Amino acid sequence: MEDLKHSDPEVYAAIQQEVERQNDGVELIASENFVSRAVLEAMGTALTNKYAEGLPGKRYYGGCRFVDEVEDLARSRARELFDCDWVNVQPHSGASANAAIYLTILQPGDTFLGLDLAHGGHLTHGSPVNFSGLLYNAEYYGVEQEGPLAGRIDMERVREKALQVQPKMISIGASAYPRDFDYEAFRAIADEVGALLWMDMAHTAGLIAAGELNNPMKHAHVVSTTTHKTLRGPRGGMILIGDDFENPFGKVAPKSGRVKRMSELLDSAVFPGMQGGPLMHVIAAKAVAFKEALNEEFQDYSRQTILNASAMADAFMDRGYHLVSDGTDNHLMLIDLRNKGITGKQAEAALGRAEITVNKNMVPNDDKSPFVTSGIRIGTPAMTTRGFEPANFVQVVEMMDRVLTNPDDESVTLAVRGEVKELCDQFPLYDFVLP
Ligand SMILES: *Cc1c(COP(=O)(O)O)cnc(C)c1O
Repeated sequence: MEDLKHSDPEVYAAIQQEVERQNDGVELIASENFVSRAVLEAMGTALTNKYAEGLPGKRYYGGCRFVDEVEDLARSRARELFDCDWVNVQPHSGASANAAIYLTILQPGDTFLGLDLAHGGHLTHGSPVNFSGLLYNAEYYGVEQEGPLAGRIDMERVREKALQVQPKMISIGASAYPRDFDYEAFRAIADEVGALLWMDMAHTAGLIAAGELNNPMKHAHVVSTTTHKTLRGPRGGMILIGDDFENPFGKVAPKSGRVKRMSELLDSAVFPGMQGGPLMHVIAAKAVAFKEALNEEFQDYSRQTILNASAMADAFMDRGYHLVSDGTDNHLMLIDLRNKGITGKQAEAALGRAEITVNKNMVPNDDKSPFVTSGIRIGTPAMTTRGFEPANFVQVVEMMDRVLTNPDDESVTLAVRGEVKELCDQFPLYDFVLP
């Protein structure tokens, strides 16, 4: 980055410090990961200069022959990765992908049914401060408070709720749900009430691609995802369809009168519905990440991510921590800190001082505000990329326990910070931090 170093030393310095921070800390934010240098390189290219509204072969701008090649590579690799009929790789983010799905399936005011944000759902699944809750009528299902299914979704309750509110769309997917989903049961409910089923696999896409979790592709009518979480690509989104079908709203092509495919409606919802020009440099990086994800090494990585999460969950429970649903099936866990006398906000801050990065998170039936919370969310994708194995994660749990039981003791924080640095030095991330 010699040019940047000279032309803009302030931005350059901030970037260097951020890379250093990433190198020197234990990153446990469940939605984050570390991309390869190849992905970084693809993103930092002249493809950012190119306008390419439309789709490969059908652009509204000239000069698109090479970016067409790039987008076609991204699309065919994504189809292979998820064994699906159709994909659109243009959404700028997970939230943009989701917006295109709402625009396609619902009219303002229509009812849909999604997972409660306070029970692990995402803002774009009906939060009152998000377009999804502002423009549409959001109804929720949640997780059980007690009994054998505590912390888990009870499909019988989802069915009851669906029969009661008669949604036009049912959404699955979460940001803080440590268990897998029963897609067949969701589809049966959707069929029973005449709803379309949408799965948002933003968090788990990589684990699904690697075959480590149930695959929604043949059950959900439409699937959305981010590309930067367990999938380990650049920041971005995409939409997929397992088996494409005629759109159920009767929308026809203007000249031929042919009923359009669902995929065609979604393509139009992304552009011109939601977005202008696609980010071709990011789409190039998506193509690179998808190629990486097709490798056997990525399957090993995904399996290791889950093994590590399960080792970490056991280590926390051994130390008396309460995990929502008593464990995890995937890459993340949700710790309810109420029996430990510390809030999520305090925990996040204390761990942060020791260079262990987590995020505070609401737990089901939380009595604290979203700014304080009673829990923290922890994930293994990022540190697994750095090479951590179960023993390393158990060591991290031991360090976290020391900090969480002495959150105001500066000497504990300092000691742990030293151990964190030592541990991270054994697993170098990027080697381009300049002195
Ligand atoms: C992260 C996430 C998103 C949003 O992704 P952005 O790229 O941040 O917009 C959407 N849905 C779910 C379930 C997520 O976890």
